[in-house]
Amino acid sequence: MIAPEAFQTLKEKLNQQKTTLVAVSKLQTVEKIMKLYALGQRDFGENYVQELTDKQSELPADIQWHFIGHLQSNKVKYIAPFVHLIHGVDSFKLLQEINKQGAKNERVIDCLLQVHIAQEDTKFGLDEKELIELLAYYTAQRSDLQHIRLRGLMGMASFSDDKAKVKKEFDQLHQLFEWTRKSYLGDLPFFDLLSAGMSNDYEMAIASGSNMVRVGSVLFGHRN
Ligand SMILES: *Cc1c(COP(=O)(O)O)cnc(C)c1O
Repeated sequence: MIAPEAFQTLKEKLNQQKTTLVAVSKLQTVEKIMKLYALGQRDFGENYVQELTDKQSELPADIQWHFIGHLQSNKVKYIAPFVHLIHGVDSFKLLQEINKQGAKNERVIDCLLQVHIAQEDTKFGLDEKELIELLAYYTAQRSDLQHIRLRGLMGMASFSDDKAKVKKEFDQLHQLFEWTRKSYLGDLPFFDLLSAGMSNDYEMAIASGSNMVRVGSVLFGHRN
């Protein structure tokens, strides 16, 4: 687990870079989460619905919970009452379900569209063509989608030591983000978040325009 001083230093550095730190607490204990909470951390990220709902019910109500995993439509209802931001939206069907559950809970749920940037084909996400298709569906049906807000894009680079390759992927993601933001300015007035970067590559992601990093092992140590 990161030392308090090192955490504060990291936090200050990210603040200066206007970057939000999402502490990825999947498979970590509530005790460890409370240690970062005591140091002022409020944004936490989880990958699994059951684990997220369990932790949410046990932990302080002012935590902003980010869902960063692959979300199945039939599980949206469990997190819809409280989730702060859903990072991994990769289909219009899922977006419609989030909207439906947002309406039921009388709230607007912020979402990021997950884009596939890594060359590995194991990662989830939309390619460029699918992103444009989804945005076309969204803009056509926007008046029926009042309970979601598209806030930006999320992506994961290849897990690789090849820095040039990782940088290229983050740059591509940033370009796609800027292009989308400008092209859909009227339809996406809240499109301002780029979620990219994890423990091993967050500095590169920020250098390439990320303003939200999802960091786990650097903060909590290795997961079980
Ligand atoms: C687990 C995970 C992270 C954090 O990974 P670390 O390498 O521990 O920082 C970030 N984003 C996603 C989508 C994850 O699944």
